[in-house]
Amino acid sequence: MRLLKQTHLQREAKTAELMIGLYCQHHHNQQTDSLCPGCCELLEFSNRRLAYCPFGEDKPTCAKCQVHCYKSQMRQPMRQVMRWAGPRMIWHHPWLTLRHLLDKFRKAPSKVPKKKDLKNLDH
Ligand code: SF4
Ligand SMILES: [Zn+2]
Repeated sequence: MRLLKQTHLQREAKTAELMIGLYCQHHHNQQTDSLCPGCCELLEFSNRRLAYCPFGEDKPTCAKCQVHCYKSQMRQPMRQVMRWAGPRMIWHHPWLTLRHLLDKFRKAPSKVPKKKDLKNLDH
């Protein structure tokens, strides 16, 4: 029920957190629930991107986005996490995965945000 009340951005943040968590536990031999420093940095970066996303609640999935605000050194590790954790999410978090799949069908906004709205993404 809680899942239904979450906003689109909250769901995206939760999905990213869970995917990075799954990836980290498997690849970086974490014995605890906490992330390794590298994955921690990736999650913080992802949360910052979401918080400053110029599309707000109309945000498309980042894969469909025309802005591509991820700086290149974070884009590759994030892609790797998504590729590995994506198919596994259905077993670990089926409801969230279903919602995420539905979100993927959202149309990407045709209007690209103006440069001034992208200034917050410069960090
Ligand atoms: S600007 Fe695009 S790539 Fe950046 S968070 Fe928003 S949707 Fe994702
Ligand atoms: Zn890790």
